Amino acid sequence: MRLYPVTLLLLALLFFVSCSTEEPEFSFEDQDREVPEFSSERAYQFIEEQVAFGPRVPNMEGHVETINYLRDHFEEKAGSGNVFVQEFEQEVYGETLTMFNLLASFGTQHSDRIMLAAHWDTRPRGEEDPTNPDDPIPGADDGGSGVGVLMEIARVFAENDVPIGVDIVLFDGEDYGEEGDLDNYFLGARHWSNNPPVPGYSPRYGILLDMVGGEDAIFAKERYSLRYASSLVDEVWNIAADKGYGDLFVDEQGGYVSDDHVIVNQEAGIPMINIIHHSVNEDGSVNFPPYWHTQNDNMDIIDTNTLQAVGDVVLELIYNRIPR
Ligand SMILES: [Zn+2]
Repeated sequence: MRLYPVTLLLLALLFFVSCSTEEPEFSFEDQDREVPEFSSERAYQFIEEQVAFGPRVPNMEGHVETINYLRDHFEEKAGSGNVFVQEFEQEVYGETLTMFNLLASFGTQHSDRIMLAAHWDTRPRGEEDPTNPDDPIPGADDGGSGVGVLMEIARVFAENDVPIGVDIVLFDGEDYGEEGDLDNYFLGARHWSNNPPVPGYSPRYGILLDMVGGEDAIFAKERYSLRYASSLVDEVWNIAADKGYGDLFVDEQGGYVSDDHVIVNQEAGIPMINIIHHSVNEDGSVNFPPYWHTQNDNMDIIDTNTLQAVGDVVLELIYNRIPR
């Protein structure tokens, strides 16, 4: 068939468009390496210790106590020279908030790196609570669980050399915004993305853990994650299925959940997925667990089986699936 110049031009345009919008394709392969054990009991304890500080809301007392506690833990596991706390201030709803992002680097000899993240702040109000909608929530799952899992993963990294560089980033101010006011959510992720502590930082990809410790957890494949890094989503969910966790990591498309990973994708240009407890209704609306943004988000709903599943899956990916 003969191609007319205009057809060629169209084809060239199509090619350019498809290339420029194509998401990165990551490769994974079983490396036959041993994977160290994750302790969900320890992760549980790390959540309990955070919750004991009270709500981790910017400017509240428990907030500063918690960042000191986190800094101590990560300095012990990564070495004090490999932990950086990024302090910043921002005025929100007429109040100047002092916030802190924490960065802990493991395997610093590797230039090839990935990133793990969670938010460590908790919500200043629990508007879904029928009796106390204005009170700050305990945030055992929403805030505490992702951090607890990463604290235990840091313990594992300290005792078992990582085959790739890993940076753990804890974001502040994720859950500060009033309902629907997305500009005042993700404060830490936005500050970090626009003021990178390491200039030119470009890990292969990142994984965000949010609400990863609740009972009856369902991790549907979050839609922004599929948009920005579907090959990583597929690998993580395949690992979960291999390990018998297919009832938690369901092979279903979830909803679009605005969270720190969207900011990191859009403002830092780092492909990042989100493992988050949610499912989606037939009309496309998103379901969060019943204790979400209520006073019931406390230690009673934390389940070590959920923590174990998430820890096992992330460690399998890092120690055994990433080709050198
Ligand atoms: Zn929340």
